[in-house]
Parts: sequence; structure tokens; C-alpha cells
Amino acid sequence: MTCKQAKALVKSRLGEKRYRHTINVKKMAVALAERWGADPEKAELAALLHDSAKELPRDELLQIFADNAIIADNAARRPAPIWHGIAAAILCQTQWGVTDPEILSAIRCHTTGKPGMSKLDKILYLADMTSVERDYPGVEPLRKLEFEDLDKAICAALEQSIQFVKDSGKPVDPESQAALDDARRQLAQRGRQTANPNLCENHQEEPVE
Ligand code: FE
Ligand code: FE
Repeated sequence: MTCKQAKALVKSRLGEKRYRHTINVKKMAVALAERWGADPEKAELAALLHDSAKELPRDELLQIFADNAIIADNAARRPAPIWHGIAAAILCQTQWGVTDPEILSAIRCHTTGKPGMSKLDKILYLADMTSVERDYPGVEPLRKLEFEDLDKAICAALEQSIQFVKDSGKPVDPESQAALDDARRQLAQRGRQTANPNLCENHQEEPVE
């Protein structure tokens, strides 16, 4: 499926407001892909399709999981707000000819994250949280951070959305917590590998003879 086809598809499946959100997420995802050296076309397609199942009724989402039980992997037992990402990835794979596993993964985990997120997974997750129309408290620092440090940004974003779900009294998907634990571990490991980064920076700035 081309980006043009994806755009037409989601335009027909989404209300005006969500379609505009989708276009904004696409812009942010492409900007982040360019910043971090990911494939902008993959980012564009993943972003265009990420909410393509968001307006399906509950019955239809459950039917998609029942019809694709192996790919769905117990999705129905997870909190309902995350169903649309999994359903979108299933539709992309089974109906719309999207075969790229990186794109399917980014769509599938765009609401929860997952342990071992790829660059594209992180980019879509962040683009969805920081698209231009988002205006929750804390979005501005996240917009800044995602262009400075992708790993720190994904930690902050996962922390923030888990807190948001907790505050609203809803159950946190274990996959979200696992994603955050993993992202924190990765960041700590990176910190150890580049022990005393300030020293490294200073060293690089020394005049070369
Ligand atoms: Fe979504
Ligand atoms: Fe979205």
C-alpha cells in the first residue's frame, strides 16, 4: 500500500477530527524519522494507518481478534483502549497488503509501547503523543526532548502516559509497564557505556594540533 492509498483509506474510515490528528501525526513522525535517521516513508505509512481501526465498534474489533486469533494473541483480554492499534496492524497485514514488519510493529504498539522498541516504534509512539494539536500539560518539554534524545523522550512519554492512565483510574496494560522498565534499563545501560559523557564531550572539544 502506498502512502497515497493509505491517506484515502483513512480519510474514508475516520471522522474529520481524527483524520486531522492522523495528518498531524504523520508530519511529526516524518520530522522525527529525518532527525533520527529512520526511513521517512515507513514513518509516514505507519503514521497514516496507526488509528485506522479507532472508529470501529467494539464488536467489530473483537471479531477481528477472533478471526485472527494467532496474530491477535489475547488482545481481547487487554484493556479496550489499546485494541485499535492491534486491530489496525491485523487489518494492514491481512487486508491492505502491508507486509513490512517494522511498520506493523509500530502501528501495533503505538498506544502501549513494548519492550525492545525499535526506532520506528519510538518515533510513532512519540509522534502520536506530540502531534501539533496536542495541548496537555507537559507536551512542550516532550516536543523538545524528542528532538534531543530519543531514548530519554520515550522514557518520559511512557512514564507520562502510564501516569495518565493511573490517574484516570483505568487499568495499566502490563505491556506498557514492561515497555517503561525496558526503556529505563536501556537508558541506564547507555549511561554506563558512555560513563562520564561530560568528560568525552570536553575531550572532543580540545584543540587539535
Ligand atoms: Fe491510537
Ligand atoms: Fe493517534
